[in-house]
Amino acid sequence: MLKNKKTVKIRGALLDWYDSEKRDLPWRQTRDPYSIWVSEIMLQQTQVQTVIPYYRRWMRAFPTLRRLAKAPEEKVLKLWEGLGYYSRARNLKKAAQKIQQDFNGVVPENYQDILSLPGIGKYTAGAILSIAHDQPLPVLDGNVKRVLARLFALKENGASGRSEKRLWQVAEDFLPDTRPGDFNQAVMELGATVCLPKNPMCPLCPLKKYCAAKKLGDPERFPPPKPRTPAKKIEVSAAVLQRGKKIFIQQRLHDGLMGGLWEFPGGKREKNETPEDCLVREIREELGIDIRISEKLMVIKHSYTRFRVTLHVFRVRLGTGRLKPTQCEQWQWVNHEELNSYTFPAANGKIVKYLTQNGRV
Ligand code: SF4
Repeated sequence: MLKNKKTVKIRGALLDWYDSEKRDLPWRQTRDPYSIWVSEIMLQQTQVQTVIPYYRRWMRAFPTLRRLAKAPEEKVLKLWEGLGYYSRARNLKKAAQKIQQDFNGVVPENYQDILSLPGIGKYTAGAILSIAHDQPLPVLDGNVKRVLARLFALKENGASGRSEKRLWQVAEDFLPDTRPGDFNQAVMELGATVCLPKNPMCPLCPLKKYCAAKKLGDPERFPPPKPRTPAKKIEVSAAVLQRGKKIFIQQRLHDGLMGGLWEFPGGKREKNETPEDCLVREIREELGIDIRISEKLMVIKHSYTRFRVTLHVFRVRLGTGRLKPTQCEQWQWVNHEELNSYTFPAANGKIVKYLTQNGRV
């Protein structure tokens, strides 16, 4: 921890600003570690305004860890639907069960214990323990990295393990002994509301007197940009497979990408395949049957963080062979009204929306 006079002034200015300007957010009205944990997990990769209604619904459905530990996974995933990165929800539930079994139902206060829970890394452990129990542990997310890089004109962007380690060290040195939880939240709040990635609002900033990047005249240069990996493009065919008024859906394997979510069967197009050929092959491989394609329903384009999907959706009927799904946890024939009670990945969700709005199966 730094103790020089300037650092003490910076910390004081930041905490005073936080005390008067902090947003009134539902998870700031409690020191309950479970509530803080839920909010921190939801806020990873997601904007505050989006998180608020999800957080409220979640806390109404699972007000305690015990209720979460006992909840069916389908209900947990349904409440997370639209937030993406479903492993976060599954890990919350797994961690809640582990806490019931190994920690007498109480969120551990020991750093190593809390780190042993599924889905909790250094950032989340620091956030929960500092905010709920005022333990002097730093946090480092995108907002904190940006504020630190600008305040101290650092050339670090966290792109390498070494750079990340140095930023953690700066965050630790910057953290005061008193009110570390509020201090962590103050740095994050400044990054989220004032020290924005583009057009930081320096005239309104409580740290403007001390900020090295501002003095250099172009704060946006800090932190230096990370090299970008372009999103991979993939083409997929999917089947709305009908039998009478029922539609076939299957649950993805738990241990894969978007595990546990439901989907329409299909798969990735191979080189030189048409979307139709791809679908016939995939359904034969996945379900053991031949299909008859009735019509093309739509083409959906959807961007995930690391890839962009073009999804060709066909209405199909059973052809020959005996249905024998092999690459899913379970499967169902459902009416179109029932589709909304299952949780689908975002791109498949657009098919559900189409089917439920058009009421046609
Ligand atoms: S003065 Fe500007 S660049 Fe520096 S911390 Fe404040 S908002 Fe960010």
